[in-house]
Amino acid sequence: MSRTLAAKPRSAALADEAARLVAQTLAARGGKPPVLAAVIATEEVDALIYTEQLLKQAAAAGLAVKKISLAATAGDAEISATLKRLSDDSDVAGIILQSPLPSGVDRAHVVAAIDPSKDVDGATAANAARLAAGDLDGTLLPATAAAVLELLRAHEIPLEGRRAVVVGRSSVVGRPVAQLLTLAGATVQVVHSKTPDMGAITRTAQILVVAAGVRGLVRGEHVAPGCVVVDVGIHADGDRIVGDVDAESVSAAVGETGALSPVPGGVGPMTNAILVLQAAQAAARHAAA
Ligand code: NAP
Repeated sequence: MSRTLAAKPRSAALADEAARLVAQTLAARGGKPPVLAAVIATEEVDALIYTEQLLKQAAAAGLAVKKISLAATAGDAEISATLKRLSDDSDVAGIILQSPLPSGVDRAHVVAAIDPSKDVDGATAANAARLAAGDLDGTLLPATAAAVLELLRAHEIPLEGRRAVVVGRSSVVGRPVAQLLTLAGATVQVVHSKTPDMGAITRTAQILVVAAGVRGLVRGEHVAPGCVVVDVGIHADGDRIVGDVDAESVSAAVGETGALSPVPGGVGPMTNAILVLQAAQAAARHAAA
């Protein structure tokens, strides 16, 4: 059996840090709490439940929360106008645009209406450009990608000089994870749906991050003993949640010297903790400006 890379207790420490920052900000704002706003334009039950959980965690840190529910048929113009209004509201410190978006809506186009200083999920071109330039100072990062790195750091997994493979090249997870691992000193290779013989590459990984959106894609035969595997995937399986990694065979294959992040209890809760912390940091910067 491999080691388990759980989010706790590090996610709880991040929640405490967020609460401390919000408390400081309250003093600077005459007791008025800064707002984290979530815009949601879907009827997907999982997304609605996820948004409620996230906003509950933000409220626990002392942020005021605002959920803006748009119709699942909302178009680019309505979503952009909502994001622009929140960007212009001085009480709003952070803005999240929840996935999935209505069909036909261009995410890259609508996120352009988010003020980059309030972009707590690092979705805007301005924050992506800062990450690409290696400027992490005060940059709001894509939260799930930042959560992967936080999980590895929390478990003291060395990154410098190690060989990492990332499965997936999406702009929200795969690519930013690869950038952050590179900045941390790892040598990184990215594989995706067009990569022939993915296993030949993943078996060379000392660190393997899997963000493919395909349930159970990575199995025991895809990993080497001692590999540290981070599973980003989330899939409902009745009343269970499972990942992109087949946990049983991968845990056995990486063995006692390897590690695997659990689903649930790994990247998911760490992502929420990062979102709330980035909202608190954005609020603190706004209050100080
Ligand atoms: P996405 O936009 O669908 O991207 C998936 C990526 O995986 C693409 O680059 C795709 O390649 C690649 N891929 C798909 N099938 C593959 C295969 N058979 N072999 C190798 N690569 C393959 O998904 P995403 O938004 O990055 O999300 C990935 C997973 O993470 C999903 O399960 C999602 O639910 C989960 N997620 C979790 C969190 C969290 O907080 N834990 C947050 C966000 C997402 P191509 O580019 O060639 O199509």
